[in-house]
Formats: sequence, structure tokens, C-alpha cells
Amino acid sequence: MPLKRMHVLVVDDDPADFAIVEALLGQASRSAFTLSHIDSFESALECLQERRYDVFLVDYFLGSETALPLLEEALHQKISQPIIVLTGADGDTLDDVVIENGAADFLPKSELTSELLERTIRHAVEHKKVQLKLERLAKQDALTGLGNRLLFEELLEKSLARAKRKEGKLAVLFLDLDRFKEINDTLGHPTGDLLLLMVADRLRTLVRDSDVVARIGGDEFTILLDELQDYQDAVIVAEKIIESLSQPSAIRGNELIISASVGIAVYPDNGDSPIELMQKADIALYEAKRRGASRTQFFTARLQTELERNLDVERGLRQGLDRDEFQIQLQPKWELASRRIIGFEALLRWRREEGEPCMPDRFIPIAEKTGLILPLGDWVIDEACRVLAHWQERGLDGYSIAVNVSPVQLHHRGFKEQLAQSIKRHGVNPRSLELELTEETLIDITQEEGRVLTDLQAIKELGVMVSIDDFGTGYSSLRYLKHFPADNLKIDRSFVSGEKAGLSEPAIARAIVTLSESLGLAVVAEGIETEEQLEQLRQFGCKQGQGYFIAAPMSVEEALQFALRHNTALEETGE
Ligand code: C2E
Ligand code: MG
Ligand code: MG
Repeated sequence: MPLKRMHVLVVDDDPADFAIVEALLGQASRSAFTLSHIDSFESALECLQERRYDVFLVDYFLGSETALPLLEEALHQKISQPIIVLTGADGDTLDDVVIENGAADFLPKSELTSELLERTIRHAVEHKKVQLKLERLAKQDALTGLGNRLLFEELLEKSLARAKRKEGKLAVLFLDLDRFKEINDTLGHPTGDLLLLMVADRLRTLVRDSDVVARIGGDEFTILLDELQDYQDAVIVAEKIIESLSQPSAIRGNELIISASVGIAVYPDNGDSPIELMQKADIALYEAKRRGASRTQFFTARLQTELERNLDVERGLRQGLDRDEFQIQLQPKWELASRRIIGFEALLRWRREEGEPCMPDRFIPIAEKTGLILPLGDWVIDEACRVLAHWQERGLDGYSIAVNVSPVQLHHRGFKEQLAQSIKRHGVNPRSLELELTEETLIDITQEEGRVLTDLQAIKELGVMVSIDDFGTGYSSLRYLKHFPADNLKIDRSFVSGEKAGLSEPAIARAIVTLSESLGLAVVAEGIETEEQLEQLRQFGCKQGQGYFIAAPMSVEEALQFALRHNTALEETGE
């Protein structure tokens, strides 16, 4: 077998030392060496990026200078060759310093033998190779072999530095497959994986060699378009990608048709850091998907304003929690026929000291995204329990309070315990507490089976009631209703009130009432604003309701007075 040849760059200012190294390596038995020689650190710095050298052999002292700055620079440039340091001085303390600064090894010149030098070089080169391979693997997506988020951010950082120097432009594309989850769920993960491989292949062929494609999550890909002439070129590439991905593909005997959406952010217009560009491309992608499938969307001034508003809300939420800016309001829920109040729904209100007033539909999604919904949601439950306990003291024990619970809360470990603690601390009857979960939350957790569903069942066993909120607005898979034993179902207010005095969607409202009856669920209509709506719902067999027609949400104090008055009225009529 021919000997493996290695190219060694020797950095040493003493020609005699170089001659010794040359002689020792000339006697090597297991490798062959080619040597080059330079005599200053300055020239060595220029050689760091030269791929033809396999290893650097560097004298620690050249005149009064040491090799440390060179080692530092090599570390900074993440060079792919090892550096071995030689020294004529007694090296007891030096070797630690040198190794800490990234040298592969340290050899006193006095101890050099042919065998030792050869072995040290061979091991250093092999170690470096393994190290580089591990680093590469850590930055690679195992399924597609593309880079992962780590690598993408690193390369983006480098490209940005170059673009800044050269006053160039670049674009970051975020791509996401439309309805990938459905494909995965219906055809199985192996098919989903093959589809992702196909997407990775198509993406690779569509971009230039200098561009970067990475997979940063399930069905999320990022593409870096380097050295752009014109921002418009980014759109051309994005459209080419969307067009290519929409071509049908045969996967495991299935003819699959998919589509993708793309969000674009550009340097310098949208930002100058990897984090900023990636965040903005992601926001643009979200907007693209909101507008429908197969879309391309640039990050725009409008999205920028929205981002700033969201950041303002996020900052406000953090402060608001510390400053007690939150309250709940309570809205009565009643029996339609007798108009008897049976309970209340707790609705979160935020009295902002600074900034614009803000309703739940606006701040809840931001609280969910930032995780702030966890402390906020815990607070709402605790507050509801506090009110219930107070009412029970006042002899008002016939009313329940329902709280809205976000999917983020349900998925958080410890939700069940926190809830049980609030119930216990305030000594309330669990039956008077109700959780409202949206239809979509339930679909999610019944599909996952697992812990969340078990937790929810345990919560029900405590006696806590569960309602399905906003029914009819999620995508209607009815199977989950059978799997999940809820107590109540709330017809979304969009089917009840609107422009008309009567029901806005009578046919749908009626169908939901019939469905609930056959599943044994109590049905509650939301958003009743007129007498006509109430009457129609009664005729359909709906027994309970909520809405401005009887009462709008009110403060906790007003609700107490409302309930007390209501109790007195019931006593007077002898009910
Ligand atoms: P939701 O649970 O469906 O709450 C009912 C919404 O309808 C409330 O809006 C209520 O004020 C409104 N409403 C009541 N009666 C009528 C009516 O007759 N006509 C009309 N047009 N609307 C009526 P709000 O308070 O703005 O809450 C909106 C949504 O925010 C809630 O919808 C719920 O999903 C969420 N939310 C509110 N509080 C919380 C909370 O503490 N935690 C969580 N996770 N979500 C909450
Ligand atoms: Mg609700
Ligand atoms: Mg609702």
C-alpha cells in the first residue's frame, strides 16, 4: 500500500531546527511527508486558510513573539488543520497554555524522535478529522442531510458580514409545506419522511451552489440567497420553488400533490442580524399562509408595524402581571325558558396603565405565543376560585363559574396540580368550576391521546365540568366528540347574532342542538342579543344561553349584587 502523503508547513526561524524536523520526518515509516518552511508568524497567518497543508508545525517563540496570537486567530477562523507547537524552552507550564488556546499538541524539541513526531502528526490529523465530522453532524439534519438551524444561522452570519463589507444584498426565504400535518397523519410518518426528502432534493437543485438550504423544523425549510443583484430575484426563486413543489410526486404508490408557502426577508432593508432576518421571514411566511396556499410574501412595512404593536403588547403583558392590571369580568349564563341564572363565565380584562386598551382576542394569542398565558391563566383560575369561595360564604352556592383555558396551559405539565391546588386552597366545590376548551384544543389532544387527555380525565374525576367552546368554528371532525366526554357544548356566537334580529345561521344552530342532544351534551348558545334569537333557539330545543340580551359581562362586584338580587327574586316567586 502506498504511504499516505501529508503536507506539513513548518513555522520556524531557525534553519537548523527545520533541517532536524526534515531529517526526522524523512525517516518516518508509516507516512510520507512533504515539507514547506516559513519563518514568521505574519506569513503563517496568511497560510491558515490554505487547504494544501494538512498540519502546521509551529515554534512557540519566534524572536520575542509567541505563537499565541496565531493560535487565537486559527481558533477564530475555525481552520480545519491541527497546529502542533514545538518549543526549545523547558515546557512545563507552557503546554497547558498552548493546549487551552487550541493547539493539537505540544512537543519539546529536546525530546523529538522520528517516531514521536510522526505519531503526533498522524494522531493530530485524525483527531481533527473526527472533531470536524462531529461538528458537521451536529449541524446536519439527519433525515435530509441538509444543514440544520445551527448551520444556517452560522452561514447566514458569515454571508451578512461579507454583504456588509461589499455593500451587497441577500435574502432569507422561509418555506413551509401547506397541510403537511394532514399528509403525515393520514398516510403515515414514513410517507411524510419520503416527501420531505423529495422536497429537500428539489430545493437543492433549484438554488445556486453558493446558496444555502436548511431544514429547521418538521416541514420548515430555510434558504439563503447570497449576493443578490435585486430583491425581485428572491421572488423569482420563491416562485420557481413553489412551482416545482406543486408538481405531483409518486411516493409509495401514492400520487401526492403538495404546495408550499414562502416568506421573504432581505438584508439590508429588513434587518442586519440572522435572528432579525429569520424572525421577519417567519412573520412573512405566517402572512403568506394566512392569505392561502402557494403564496409568496415579502416582509412589509405593514408587517413591521404589526410586529412593533405585538412587541408593545408583549412588553405590556409582562409589566401588567407585576402591576396587577388584570381583572376578570363575569357574564351570566341562564336557562332560556325560566331566565334563571345558572352560572357565569369569567372573561379576562386588561386595564393597561400605558398603551392602547386591549381586548382578549388581541392579547391572548400573544400571551400564548410568549408563554405568558401560563401565569395569567393560573391567575384567572385562582381568581375564579376566590370569587366562588366568597359567594359560598354569602350563601350563593348555586352558581358555577366557567374559565377559558388555552391549549398552551393544558399542555403544560403541572396544570392539573395547579388547578387542584386553587380548588383546595379556596375550599370550593369542584362541581361549581367549569373549564371551557375550544374545539380545536380538543381535536389536538384527542389525536395525541397521551398525557394531556389522561390529565383532563383526572380533572373531570375531581368533579370539574368541561365545556367545548366556540363549537362549529374549528374544522369539523366530529369523531373527537365521541372520544372526549365533555359536559356542555357552546354554539359559537357567529351562528347566533349578526346583522339580523333573528339567528344569523338558523340551520347550523339547529343542527348543533340536535347533535348535542344525541351525544348527551347540554347545549349553550353564546351571543344572544335579541328576543327573536332567544325564541328561535328555544324552539330548536336549546335550553341554555349567554349574551347581551340578558346581561353583558360585568365586574366581580356587580356580579355579586346581580346574583344576590336574582336569589331574592327567586325566593319571592317561591322557586
Ligand atoms: P369566548 O370564550 O367565546 O367568550 C365569549 C365572548 O363573547 C366574550 O368576548 C364576550 O364578551 C362576548 N360576548 C358575550 N355576549 C355577547 C353578545 O351578546 N354578543 C357578542 N357579539 N359578543 C358577546 P371577550 O371577553 O372579548 O373574549 C373573547 C375571547 O377571548 C373568549 O371567547 C375567549 O376565547 C378568550 N378569553 C377571554 N378570557 C380568557 C381567559 O381568561 N383565558 C383564555 N385562555 N382565553 C380567554
Ligand atoms: Mg368561553
Ligand atoms: Mg365562545
